[in-house]
Amino acid sequence: MKQYLVKPDSTVKLSKWDPNDTGDFKGGKKEGQAEIRKLNAKLESLQELLFAEHKHKVLVVFQAMDTGGKDGTIRRVFDGVNPAGVRVASFKAPTSEQLDHDFLWRIHKETPGNGEMVIFNRSHYEDVLIVRVHDLVPKKVWSKRFDQINEFERMLAENGTTILKFYLHIDLDEQKERLQARLDDSSKHWKFRLGDLAERKRWPEYMNAYEDVLNKTSTDHAPWYIVPANRKWYRDLVISSVLVDTLEGLKMKYPESEENLDGVFIE
Ligand code: ATP
Ligand code: MG
Repeated sequence: MKQYLVKPDSTVKLSKWDPNDTGDFKGGKKEGQAEIRKLNAKLESLQELLFAEHKHKVLVVFQAMDTGGKDGTIRRVFDGVNPAGVRVASFKAPTSEQLDHDFLWRIHKETPGNGEMVIFNRSHYEDVLIVRVHDLVPKKVWSKRFDQINEFERMLAENGTTILKFYLHIDLDEQKERLQARLDDSSKHWKFRLGDLAERKRWPEYMNAYEDVLNKTSTDHAPWYIVPANRKWYRDLVISSVLVDTLEGLKMKYPESEENLDGVFIE
């Protein structure tokens, strides 16, 4: 899955990244889903190990355009993982209290502690995406945020946080289909916002803003992955693989008992 990793200081052009890509995976959807189930089982035990060892912190960031599939990804990739050890933090438009503070104030409070895995559904990156596209703060303010984000994430990493960031890459046609599906099915109307259509018109501006994010904030300690996301099963497969590989790389161990259990006999 290394082909989806954004190297530090890259010059990514999103138009060159195929959202329909299914990589080297030879099987189709069925085989992909079988693979995901295996990875799910591994993720479940790795999460238990993370909790038991109580040493590492794990932060998973999801960013995408509307209908990009953040919610579905979270539902499927973390299916079966013990909800007691995983927490989802969703970041909506900031409240007035949050706006009275620096943009990382509300973010820092949600970061994981030892043994915890936290999923960000949207994140501090909104502060250089929607905020930039809609001119919510002047350029001289948002342009400094790339460095501020890098420093913040470095601090988290130096304090034991493993950070993974996923941009779910769909294209305009796929978004149209997904919006249309929401419109056609009354049980999906709650997900449809007229505002999403206005955002859709600004697609090129968003792509431009995303390219800056990917090029300026993919670091060794907090890398971005560009996930081909038109095909949901492949999207889930890529993310599950990266998560499992990364957690296995932590070489976690179950802690030994603090007491001597030799010869303990239960009557
Ligand atoms: P879905 O993708 O399923 O529609 P959602 O994450 O879009 O879910 P919504 O309630 O529709 O949830 O949208 C949340 C909105 O909050 C998004 O438009 C997002 O851009 C906006 N938002 C998040 N963070 C900020 C921020 N810092 N400043 C301004 N707007 C923000
Ligand atoms: Mg929305």
